[in-house]
Amino acid sequence: MKIARFASPGEDPRFGVVDGEDLVVLAGDPMYAGYETTGERVPLRSTKILAPVIPRSKVVGIGLNYYDHADEMGQEAPEFPVMFLKPNTTVVGPGDPIQIPPVEGEIHLEGELAIVIGAVAKRVKAEDYADVVFGYTIANDVTARGPQQSDGQWTRGKSYDTFCPIGPYIETELDWSDLKIQSRVDGELLQSESTMQMIHKIPELVAYVSDVFTLLPGDIILTGTPAGVGPFTEGSTVEIAIEGLGSLINPARARI
Ligand code: MG
Repeated sequence: MKIARFASPGEDPRFGVVDGEDLVVLAGDPMYAGYETTGERVPLRSTKILAPVIPRSKVVGIGLNYYDHADEMGQEAPEFPVMFLKPNTTVVGPGDPIQIPPVEGEIHLEGELAIVIGAVAKRVKAEDYADVVFGYTIANDVTARGPQQSDGQWTRGKSYDTFCPIGPYIETELDWSDLKIQSRVDGELLQSESTMQMIHKIPELVAYVSDVFTLLPGDIILTGTPAGVGPFTEGSTVEIAIEGLGSLINPARARI
């Protein structure tokens, strides 16, 4: 099932299940309130699709989690997942502008499969990971390479406002074992790789991350990016597509 969070003009955000060209409107947030419908159908084209979730406490990033990406960054494949945090103020939705801050160095896209957590998750065993996963979506782990390198750690480079576009939907049923991830800037293909190339897989990531801190419903884990990360600039259109999840498209603009 594909879940969208959307807003019609002048209304508060609501949730719906994608059904062809329409949304079947839900009575509440399905993460908490289930799938009771209001009986309404809204055409997708008449609504603004929003980020499908706003993480309640955190976006957890996993660095260097594809063999070929670790290689292109000149790093060894890490024995354990490399974790970092992005604040939830980085999150924007499909079509929202990525605002490019005035910093030295290139701004890069990183196309990633994102896990959406659906329950309080603390020290979850790898074999139980599915119990705490609500679904999956697409993320762009936008990164300012200059600050990432000059600061010696990643917080600033990963955390500017708008640096985590997600969406367009949350897919609650997904076989994530072999999905193609493709990233494009203005139509030019930069990344094309299967999630099979992930070093630390999703059950292990949920176990590892939830051993460190408690995850809350709505929190997100970004599972890492394949090789081919590359720059975009003001005026670019950035697209991340993942098989089964659709396509996340954002324009890039100078920060206002
Ligand atoms: Mg990343």
